[in-house]
Amino acid sequence: MTYRAPLAEMEFCAARIVGQDLLAETERFAEATPETRSAILDEAAKLCEGVLAPVNRDGDLHPARLENGVVRCPPGFREAYQAIAEGGWVGITGDPDYGGMGLPQCFATFVNEMMASSCLALSLNPLMSQGQIEALEHHASDEIKNLYLPKLNAGTWNGTMNLTEPQAGSDVGALSTRAEPNGDGTYAITGQKIFISWGDHDVCENICHLVLARLPDAAPGTKGISLFIVPKYLPDADGNPGPANALKAVSLEHKLGLHGSPTAVMEYDRATGWMVGAPHGGMAAMFTMMNNARLGVGVEGLAIAEAATQKAMAFALERRQGRTPDSSDTIIGHADVRRMLMTMKALTQAVRAICYDCAFSLDMARAAASEDDREAHSRRGAYLTPIAKAFGTDTGHEVAHLGIQVHGGMGFIEETGAAQLARDVRVAAIYEGTNGIHAMDLVGRKLSVDNGAMARSLIAEIAATGAALAPAGAEFAPLAQAILAAAEQAACTTDWMLAAQMNDRAAGASPYLRLMALALGTHYLGRGALAARGGAEAAARLAVAHFFATQIAPQTTALAQAATQGAAPLYALDAEALSA
Ligand SMILES: Cc1cc2nc3c(=O)[nH]c(=O)nc-3n(C[C@H](O)[C@H](O)[C@H](O)COP(=O)(O)OP(=O)(O)OC[C@H]3O[C@@H](n4cnc5c(N)ncnc54)[C@H](O)[C@@H]3O)c2cc1C
Repeated sequence: MTYRAPLAEMEFCAARIVGQDLLAETERFAEATPETRSAILDEAAKLCEGVLAPVNRDGDLHPARLENGVVRCPPGFREAYQAIAEGGWVGITGDPDYGGMGLPQCFATFVNEMMASSCLALSLNPLMSQGQIEALEHHASDEIKNLYLPKLNAGTWNGTMNLTEPQAGSDVGALSTRAEPNGDGTYAITGQKIFISWGDHDVCENICHLVLARLPDAAPGTKGISLFIVPKYLPDADGNPGPANALKAVSLEHKLGLHGSPTAVMEYDRATGWMVGAPHGGMAAMFTMMNNARLGVGVEGLAIAEAATQKAMAFALERRQGRTPDSSDTIIGHADVRRMLMTMKALTQAVRAICYDCAFSLDMARAAASEDDREAHSRRGAYLTPIAKAFGTDTGHEVAHLGIQVHGGMGFIEETGAAQLARDVRVAAIYEGTNGIHAMDLVGRKLSVDNGAMARSLIAEIAATGAALAPAGAEFAPLAQAILAAAEQAACTTDWMLAAQMNDRAAGASPYLRLMALALGTHYLGRGALAARGGAEAAARLAVAHFFATQIAPQTTALAQAATQGAAPLYALDAEALSA
C-alpha cells in the first residue's frame, strides 16, 4: 500500500471545519484562495506520492552514514530533495522579496503533512529550513537576509538548529558553547552540539547552522544566550560557497527510527559565525524557529497517523480471517478491528483540525485587519501550539501502534512498513521540546499570560458547537451532550489549574493537555458533522464524530480527575523508595 494524499479530507478540514477561506479576505494573503489551495494540494500530492514515498523504505534500510568525514544520505534522497527544492516547497511561506512564495502557514502545513506522510526522514530537512527562514526574516540584519534567504528559500542551502549539548537538553540554559568576537564583526564559535538533525549531508550545496552560544560576558542561564549563523562553507558576498568553515560532524547517531535523517554530533572549533538578533537575545530569536518547528513536528504526528491509517485500512480490506458479521470475511468486518480503525480515523481527523486551526491562527496573527484581532489570534496560536505539538505526536505514535496491531503478526514484520511508521514517529514526542515540557508550558506560561482568558475563549468555542448541535436533530443529540460535557470538564480543570501552585499544575500538565485536545477534537468533528449535513458525506462525518464523542471524548472525565490531584501523590514515595 503506497501513500495517497487525502486531498478531499484536507480541503474539508481546512475550509469547512477550520474556516481557512477567510485568509483570502485579508490583504496579506489575498492570493490564498480556495483555487490556489487546490492547485498547491494537487501539485504537492504528485511530488509526495510519486517521488518522496518511493524513497521512504530505502531511507530506513540504508541509513545516512559518515564516511571519511563525509555524510552520505540514503539512495534517492538527493534527487527527492532536489525535487522538493525545485518545486519551491522549501520557501513556501518565505518573503517574496527574498525568493519565497509568501503563502500562509496553512498552506505550508498541507505540504509538510504530505511530505512527512510520504517520507518523514527527508521531510525534516525542509522543515528545519522553513524555521530558519522565519527566524532570519524576523531577527537577522539586512546583510544576512540578502545573503542567506534567497539560497534557503530556493533550497540550494539548508538550515539546521543547534541547541542541544550533552549537559543541556530540556535545560537549554545550561549550554556552554562559546562565541568570542573576532574584532571584525564575526565571532569564533567553539563547542559541541549533539543530536543535530541534518547536521551534515550531501543533498545540497551548503548547510547553515543556527547555533546558540554564549558571549564572554554572558550571564548564566537562558538570559546569556546569543544566536549565530554558522555556514558549513563560508560564502563570498555574491553567495558563492567558499572555503570550509571550522566545523564538522564527528559522528552520526544509531537510532530507533528516522534512519534516513542524519542526526549528527557537531564540533565547532573557532568556526566563523555571524550574530543574529541582539547580544544575549538568542532565545527570543531561536523561539521564532522553534515555534514554527513545534507546529511542524505536531504535523509530523498527524502525517504518520494518516499514513498508518491508510496502510491499516488497506490491509484490513484484504486480510481474510474467520467469519465476520458483515459476511465480508476480511478482518475489517470484525468488531475489534473496526474499533481500532475507527479510533485511528477519528484521532487523525481530530489532530488534523487542531494543527490546521493552529496554523490558521498563526496566519491571522499576521494578517488580520485590526491590532486587537492580530493579538487575539497570536495568543490563540500560542495556546494551540503545545497542544498541536504534544497531542499531534502522541497521536502519531498511538495510531501507528494501532496500525501494527491491525496488521497482526505482519505488523511486526518490517516489509509491511507499519513498524517503520511507528519507529520513525517515536522521536517526535521527544524532539522540539519533549511533550512533558510542552504540557508544562501550557499549564504554566500559556495559562498564566492572560489568567486563562484564551483557554476560556476556546472552551466557549467548544461549548458553542455543542449548543449548535443540540437542536440539529435527534441523531446529533449524543454528540451535543458529549461536547458540552467535555467543555465542562475543560472549564473546571482550567479553573483548578489557575488556582493551583506551579508544581501541582506541573503534576497534572500532561492529562490537562490531553483533556483540552480531546475536548477540541470532539468539537471540531462535531463542527464537521454539522457542516456536512444534507450532503453526500453527511452520514460518514456523523458516524466518525459520534464515535469520537461517545468513545474517545469521555476520557476527559478521567483526565480531569488525574489533572487535579496535585503533586503530593507523585511524591508519596521518595526517590529511593520509588526506584527500589
Ligand atoms: C533524532 C533526534 C533529533 C534531534 N534533533 C535536534 C536538532 O536538530 N537540534 C537540537 O538542538 N536538538 C535536537 N534533538 C535534541 C532534542 O531536542 C532533545 O533530545 C530534547 O530536547 C530532550 O532533551 P534530552 O534528550 O537531553 O532529554 P532530557 O532533557 O534529559 O529529558 C529526560 C526526561 O526528563 C524530562 N524533563 C527534563 N526536564 C524537565 C523539566 N524541567 N520538567 C519536567 N520534565 C523534565 C523530559 O521530559 C524527559 O522525559 C534531537 C534529538 C533526537 C533524538
